[in-house]
Amino acid sequence: MEDNQTASTATDLYGVSAWGQGLVHVLPNGDVAVADPAPEGQAVPVSLPSIIEGLNERGIATPILLRVESFLNIGLRRLNEAFHGAIAANGYKGEYRGVFPIKVNQQAEVVNRLVQAGQPYNYGLEAGSKPELIVALAQPLGYESLIICNGIKDDEFVRLAILSLKLGFRTVIVLESLKEFEIVKRVSEELGIKPMLGVRVKLTQVVTGKWASSSGDRSSFGIGADQIVTLVDRLRETGFLDCLVLQHNHLGSQVPNVIDVRRTVTEACRFYTELRRLGAPLAFLDMGGGLGVDYTGEKRASENSVNYTVDEYAAAIVETVGYALDEAGHPHPTLVTESGRYVVALSSMLIFDVLDATLYGVPQRPDLTGDEHHFLPDMVAIEDYVKPGRLQECFNDAVYYRDEVRALFRRGQLDIGQLATAERCFLYIVKRIHTVIQENGAGEALSEAMESIVDYYHCNFSLFQSLPDVWAIDQLHPIMPLQRLDETPTRRAVLTDITCDSDGKIDSFILGDGIHKSLPVHDLEEDKPYHIGVFFVGAYQETLGDLHNLFGDANVVTISLTGDGGFNIEHETEGDTIAEVLSYVEYDPADILADFRKTVERAVARGTVNSAERKALIAAYKDSLGGYTYFE
Ligand SMILES: *Cc1c(COP(=O)(O)O)cnc(C)c1O
Repeated sequence: MEDNQTASTATDLYGVSAWGQGLVHVLPNGDVAVADPAPEGQAVPVSLPSIIEGLNERGIATPILLRVESFLNIGLRRLNEAFHGAIAANGYKGEYRGVFPIKVNQQAEVVNRLVQAGQPYNYGLEAGSKPELIVALAQPLGYESLIICNGIKDDEFVRLAILSLKLGFRTVIVLESLKEFEIVKRVSEELGIKPMLGVRVKLTQVVTGKWASSSGDRSSFGIGADQIVTLVDRLRETGFLDCLVLQHNHLGSQVPNVIDVRRTVTEACRFYTELRRLGAPLAFLDMGGGLGVDYTGEKRASENSVNYTVDEYAAAIVETVGYALDEAGHPHPTLVTESGRYVVALSSMLIFDVLDATLYGVPQRPDLTGDEHHFLPDMVAIEDYVKPGRLQECFNDAVYYRDEVRALFRRGQLDIGQLATAERCFLYIVKRIHTVIQENGAGEALSEAMESIVDYYHCNFSLFQSLPDVWAIDQLHPIMPLQRLDETPTRRAVLTDITCDSDGKIDSFILGDGIHKSLPVHDLEEDKPYHIGVFFVGAYQETLGDLHNLFGDANVVTISLTGDGGFNIEHETEGDTIAEVLSYVEYDPADILADFRKTVERAVARGTVNSAERKALIAAYKDSLGGYTYFE
C-alpha cells in the first residue's frame, strides 16, 4: 500500500507501522487512511480526508468522533479467539466467558453492537453501578453469558440483580465487603431467591504501571485474607456458602508487564483453591480488567505500552491457572476477564481541524536597515557559524543578544520596532540551528532550546471534553496530521484546544523514534482545511469529559468500510447544541431567550435599536442557541 517514498517516510516519521495495528495507513497521495485488516481478503484503505469531506457534505462538521463499525469487533474477536486458542493449546478443561465493563464506553451504540457481536462467544457485561445494571438487563444476552455486578451495592441494586435470575440472566453479585453480604442476605430471604455470589479478593501482589494503587494491600476495593475467612464462616452459618461461585480480582487498568499477570494469577489461584477447600463451590475465576493496549507501539512495559500481545496475555492466564489447579487437584474454572480498554480502544478516533496558528519559526532573514542597535546585526551574523559542533554556542549567543535587546527596551533605550525585529532575528537564528540539526541529525542536547521555535496550532476541540485522560493522567494516543503526508512537514507544533485554559493543550506525541514534545506539521494553507487525527480513543474518553467552557459533546459518527474503498454512515449522533449544554448547568434555554428579548426590547424603547436590527439580534441569538458549541 505504501509504495512510494514519501508515504513510507511519513509512516516512519509518525511511527504508524509500530502503533497502527494494520488499521491505519498512509496513502501515496499523502492521505491517512483506515482499513479493516480482516483475516479474509485485502480490504482497500479509505482516505480519512475523503471521509471527512463526505461527512461535511452531509452537514456533519468537525470535531467528529469517528467510530468504525468493524474496528469495534476487532478487539472483541481477538480477545475471545486468544482465549479459545490458549484453552485448546493447553488442554485446559474450562471455558472462557468474557464480560464487557460498561463503564469503559457506556454509549448505547457501542454496548448494543458489542452485545450483538459477542453472542457467538457468550460474551456478557460487567456493571459497576445501578444504571449500568439497568442497561445490562435490557440487552439480549445469551443464556450462558454472565452479568457481573461490581461496586458498592445498595438494597435496590441487589434486589434487581437477584430478581433478574428469574428471567434467566446469570447475574453474579460480587461482594465487596462483609457488610454488603448482610444486604444480600436480607433481600434474598425477602424474595425467597438464592443469589449467585462472587467475592472480590484483595491480592497482596502489586502490579506496575499507572494503576499500581488499584492493587495490593492498600487497594480500596476487595476483601483481604483476614476478612475472607470471617466472610466464609458467615456464609456457611447463614446457609449461603453454596451460592459463592465466583472469585473476582481486579488489578487496575493497562497492566504493562505480563510478568505481573502471571504473578497475580498465581496468587489468585491460591485463594481460589483455599476457598474451595473451605467449602465454597467456586466455578468461575474472574481476573478483572488490565489487558493493555500498545498505544505507542513500543512493545515494552511502560505506561502507554505493554510487553505482551493478547495471545500472550490469554496464554499466561490459561497456563498458570491450569497448572495451579491441577497441582491442587481442583477442576479448571470457567475463566472470566473484564477487559474493557482492549476491546474498545481501537474503535474510534477524534478528528478536528486546525483553526489558526501562532508561528515561532521565522524562515527568512529579517531585513535590517543599518540604523539598528549593533546587537541586531550581531545576532544576524551568528548565521555565519551555524554549523555542527557550534550549535550550542550559536544558541547561547542568540539568547544573549536577545536578552540584551529586551533589557534596553525595558530601560527605554530601544523602541518597539527594534524589539520586534530583534525577536524575529532570534527566531530566525533558532530556525537555522533547527535546520542544521535536522539535516545532520546533530545532537539531542539542544532539544530544550528547540522548543522556543515550536509553533502553536490552535485546534477546534476541547481536551477536557474529548480527551480527558490526556489532560488528567497524561495518557498518550497516536496523533498525526491526516493529509499532505507526501510533503515533508516543515514545522513542529504543540496543539492547543479552544478552551481558554492553559492546560488545554497536547504537547506529548508518539513518533517513530520515541516520544516528543512537538508534532511535525505542515504550513497551513489559506482556505484549505488541515485535519489532525487522534487515534484509539474508544476507551474511557467518551463519557469522562466535562463541560469546560461549556463545550459539549462532539458529533459522533459510526461508519462501516465497504471493503472496496467506500464507506457508509451507520449511525450519527449530533453533538450538543449550546441550548443543550446550557440546560446541563440548569439554565432554561426558553427563559434565557425570553430574557434576551427583554434586553432587546428595552434597547428598542431607548431608540438605540431599530426594528430591522431587533430582528437580526434575536435571530442571531436563536441561531447560536441551536448551534454546535464548537467553531463552525
Ligand atoms: C475499570 C474496570 C475494568 C476494566 O478495566 P480495563 O483495564 O479497561 O480492561 C474491569 N473491571 C473492573 C472492576 C473495573 O473497575
